[in-house]
Amino acid sequence: MKSRNQFSVFSFQFSVARRAARIFLAFVLFALFVATGLASGQGRVTAASEAENVELYQALLDLQNPWTVMCVAAHPDDEDGATLTILRRKYGVHTVTVFSTYGEGGQNVVGPELYEELGAIRARETEEAARVQGSEPYFLGLRDFGFSKSADEAFRFWGHDEALRRMVLKIRELRPDVIITNHDTVTGHGHHQATGRLVLEAFDAAADPQRFPEQLRNGVTTWQVKRLFVRFQFEGSGSKQAEEEATRTGKIVSINPNERDAVRGTTYAEQALQALQHHATQGPWPKTLPPGGRPPIRYRLAREAKDAAPLPANAQTVLEGLRLPQGVEETLLPQEAKALLPLFSDKSRQNVLSALINARKNGLFAAHAVTNDQPRFRLMQERLSHALAAASGINTMLITSNKVLIPGTTTKASLNINNFGSRPARIESISLRGFEQPGKANLPKTLAPGETVIIELQSSTPRTANITVPAAEHLYDGKLFGEELAASVNVSLDGATFPVEAKTQIDVAPAVEITSITPSPFVVTSGTVNKPTTFSVHVINHQQERFNGKIVAGNPVNHNGVFGSAFTLEPNQALELPVTFEPQFHGSAERGGFKAVENPIRFIVMRADLKSGVSQRNVPAIYSHALVAPNLHVGYLPSFDETLKHSLSALGVDAKELTVDDVRAGDLSSYQTIIIDNRGYQAHPELIAANSRLMDYVKAGGNLIVFYHKNNEWNPDPQRNRPQLAPYPITLGGLRVTDENAPIEFTEPQNPLLNYPNKITAEDFKGWIQERGLYYPQDWDAHYSAPLSMNDPGEQPLRGGLLVADYGSGHYIYTSLVWYRQLRAGIPGAYRVLANMISYGRKEN
Ligand SMILES: [Zn+2]
Repeated sequence: MKSRNQFSVFSFQFSVARRAARIFLAFVLFALFVATGLASGQGRVTAASEAENVELYQALLDLQNPWTVMCVAAHPDDEDGATLTILRRKYGVHTVTVFSTYGEGGQNVVGPELYEELGAIRARETEEAARVQGSEPYFLGLRDFGFSKSADEAFRFWGHDEALRRMVLKIRELRPDVIITNHDTVTGHGHHQATGRLVLEAFDAAADPQRFPEQLRNGVTTWQVKRLFVRFQFEGSGSKQAEEEATRTGKIVSINPNERDAVRGTTYAEQALQALQHHATQGPWPKTLPPGGRPPIRYRLAREAKDAAPLPANAQTVLEGLRLPQGVEETLLPQEAKALLPLFSDKSRQNVLSALINARKNGLFAAHAVTNDQPRFRLMQERLSHALAAASGINTMLITSNKVLIPGTTTKASLNINNFGSRPARIESISLRGFEQPGKANLPKTLAPGETVIIELQSSTPRTANITVPAAEHLYDGKLFGEELAASVNVSLDGATFPVEAKTQIDVAPAVEITSITPSPFVVTSGTVNKPTTFSVHVINHQQERFNGKIVAGNPVNHNGVFGSAFTLEPNQALELPVTFEPQFHGSAERGGFKAVENPIRFIVMRADLKSGVSQRNVPAIYSHALVAPNLHVGYLPSFDETLKHSLSALGVDAKELTVDDVRAGDLSSYQTIIIDNRGYQAHPELIAANSRLMDYVKAGGNLIVFYHKNNEWNPDPQRNRPQLAPYPITLGGLRVTDENAPIEFTEPQNPLLNYPNKITAEDFKGWIQERGLYYPQDWDAHYSAPLSMNDPGEQPLRGGLLVADYGSGHYIYTSLVWYRQLRAGIPGAYRVLANMISYGRKEN
């Protein structure tokens, strides 16, 4: 289990290391020029790194474009990556993306995290992708409860008005001229359809002072977006008619993503693919583009403001034809700004800098008092400041002495201000956020070329500060990325003044944090109840001093604490501590009368003197009355997480984790049952070539269970050398049952799978989470029995969720129900059905 804390520490170190490397390189180059007497302005220009040149070019391009385009997406990876990249990288448009959700209801192909933990990771991935696209991500924080088939279902969870309120607020705050989206109102995932509907409504509502009037304060005003574009859908769909109509009337924009970015040397489609690859939990993504690149990206104009300029025929961008009001246009698109970009191609950084200094002194982009569009002027002034910082070589960096803030302590930080340029700079003032103001005497006044000053800062964290770890618990409260520490250095250079910003985000964490505990939830069954259990408690010492402590585990029934052994953590050290104890459950094993325990098991990190606790974490405890056949040996091939391992352990069966090599060459005859985890043939592609061994195993009397796969990972495909993987044919379709409460019909109540050792009833399908199953078989051989049937409301029954057949002397079970989600969540019925699956064929008599 990867905690947000470890994650953020990693990315923090990484970004510092990357910047430090760049600064070091610049320093080395500078020293070289000093040594050879070449440290002139001209020398500095050639010394600028490729990355610095790209940054300066982008900063100058940004001065040519005062427009904002917003992309609206339901989940991370639904954004129009290529269009966003082109708008910013080719035209300098200010681009923002608003995501309805964090995508926490999806699957994770690279790690065990799901739900809120997955959402926290996806937020990071989205930030990384946005960096490549040159856009800014924002999240509405609506809950991703998993796949839904309709917008109505999405609105039942989100609340239509609440979702609209959030979307309208973001439009009013970010003030886009144009909105683009991949989502229409009828195609695909219910979240996509709902987001498509919201953006249409928000287009009008954001401009209407009667809608959400409480938002109209603190500088937030109504805002009229000029145009809304919806991307052509990939598959034929309900918007086909609208697309044909738009094509007929010429209300479309067609964008070629295969153009080469001369400054970066790659095509925009390649950059977009690079961004997409950052959404790693949603992969695997292609490594390269198809030959010939991507087809044109087409949008239809879905809505326009009454006063919007008409969209020209054959438009290449969504902004084409739009004009700023008179007076504003002259100020924000002046000749002076246009003249800056050609200076870059002269490779004369000094000329660029001089021109930028003059522009600032001449009041470029200074707002008129009369305008009601102040934020647009502010944006352009910030962009001018950024260009000045990039051209001048003034650089700032914040480095904290600790990776987290600890309540009741003070954290030191250094603010490095470097002058890699060739002109002396004056430091006028420094404004700080999250730091105490240092004494005036400590502030340097001037910064000579080549000089670096370091200002020591400190940040005091109150004893009562709110903890921001684990990130999964802060997905919706605005503290997902911790607290922000920032410094803004106001610099003047040859009479032009501009701020240079440095900021970092840092978590607030206890001195010693419990980052995870496994297993969690803690599930016990008839075979494991009231027996000693060993938990793995992962702790990390965030302090710069040694910590001596003990873990206490609190019993859920009588609250008796059990002390683990003493441990010592060096500064910043992380440890996995085994804590063995016997949680007490109510009831009697013989009668199966145990209750799910309402109180969780509580783990507390204490100081060694046991006088005070430092942090704590709870583990839910759940009882399932699940019996298994005697003397079972089970082998399992896990895919993405440890759910199977913990579930088999909860059932008390002797289980061994297998590798593909074990399947290929090992002795499988000692296992009565083998389980292939969900999407196992995708997670282990080599398994396909070893599949005949599994078929031989079944023929010889084994019991093979295969969990759900996607249709394109399973169905026979000669191009991928994939034969039929089941002993008798099973063809998967794309249908799902997304209602986790959909009634179950027992179509073969006498089937042993539903009767031994546990009598399975409707009760076992209660309390499920997210969904029933995905990619149900659409065709299967007559050898299979299908003892269950289920369907979403108003849909046809799906019978293939659980298939079982005899083959040779053994048995084969394929199931498209999402057992991994239910087992992981500790749903008691799922443990009972798993017990029956692994016991299948073992009944003596
Ligand atoms: Zn999506």
